Amino acid sequence: MTSEIAERLDKSGLHWTAGAPLKNYCHWQIGGPADYLVEPCSADEIAMARAIARETGLPSLVIGHGSNMLFDDQGYRGMIIKIGSRFSAARFDGENVYAEAGLWTPSLARACAARGLTGLEHAVGIPGNFGGLLFMNGGSMRQNIGDTVMFVDILDENGQMRRMAGDECDFSYRHSIFQGKNWIVLGAQLKLAQDDPEKIRRAMLSVLEERRSKFPLEYPNCGSVFSNDEQLYAQYGPPGMVIDKAGLKGTRVGAAEVSRRHANFIINCGGATSSDVFELIRIVRKEILERTGFVLKCEVRYASPDGRCDRLDLFL
Ligand SMILES: Cc1cc2nc3c(=O)[nH]c(=O)nc-3n(C[C@H](O)[C@H](O)[C@H](O)COP(=O)(O)OP(=O)(O)OC[C@H]3O[C@@H](n4cnc5c(N)ncnc54)[C@H](O)[C@@H]3O)c2cc1C
Repeated sequence: MTSEIAERLDKSGLHWTAGAPLKNYCHWQIGGPADYLVEPCSADEIAMARAIARETGLPSLVIGHGSNMLFDDQGYRGMIIKIGSRFSAARFDGENVYAEAGLWTPSLARACAARGLTGLEHAVGIPGNFGGLLFMNGGSMRQNIGDTVMFVDILDENGQMRRMAGDECDFSYRHSIFQGKNWIVLGAQLKLAQDDPEKIRRAMLSVLEERRSKFPLEYPNCGSVFSNDEQLYAQYGPPGMVIDKAGLKGTRVGAAEVSRRHANFIINCGGATSSDVFELIRIVRKEILERTGFVLKCEVRYASPDGRCDRLDLFL
């Protein structure tokens, strides 16, 4: 930690900590210390944190709830900007809702349901924040958040705030334009539709019930490790089924295990390391490549200690 950066952070009035254990900031509960972790409470504070990192030559990475992230046991030599409950307001206007990036996705979905707004039922069980959902174009039941986006507010690499129309965001399955840019998603407006609140509530309960019965939620995990591939799906099925058929359920490296309940999940059985997860992913991909000829791509993202962050398989 350099005193110049610490001094600037202190002077800025930002809420920050040194050496925060990243295992407390991700669902896998894996990861060493971050040199700096900042938790901003406004767009201006987010811009300020980014500016300090940029001007001091420090790598920086924005995270939401860490439900799609693997951190390294060595931690992160830079600044983690955590966008969470401090920046999580929602404003309703008829069938439109504007939400800030730190809002917990299930809370947003429930708030919409309470107002009789339909369109987010599919997202009620996705355990991340709204900014992460937009970045990943997350969703379930063949729906993605991008389907309802009117516009997204971002902070670009030069610290300028910009508004992007939904059709400029390049949304496709688990993809958005944000993945290839050094931008920060600040918030977005969604266009929903009016429907019977009771009907929406029942639909959400059924989504949650199905997820509870399928997913190994009793262990730390990061959701689906591998993303769907249309051709693999057509020939062999979804990744979970393919991994299951390959007999890989229960395969274990250290304390990381391919879930016996859902083969596209890797669970932390207690004290798993990032190397355990890497090795297990290597084993699964090799076996599936040999059996099917398909190379599995990861949905999960990895933050390397030196500051890079991308799809995990790009680091193998
Ligand atoms: C049990 C479980 C079930 C899941 N089920 C689903 C599912 O059904 N469908 C689905 O799509 N996903 C699912 N996921 C994965 C995950 O919850 C989603 O991808 C979620 O939207 C990620 O949000 P997050 O806030 O946790 O993002 P994080 O994991 O914190 O970050 C993910 C990526 O987004 C970037 N990012 C986050 N916030 C911002 C921001 N404001 N600006 C710019 N970049 C940002 C990060 O840098 C990182 O690259 C599941 C995960 C778990 C653990």
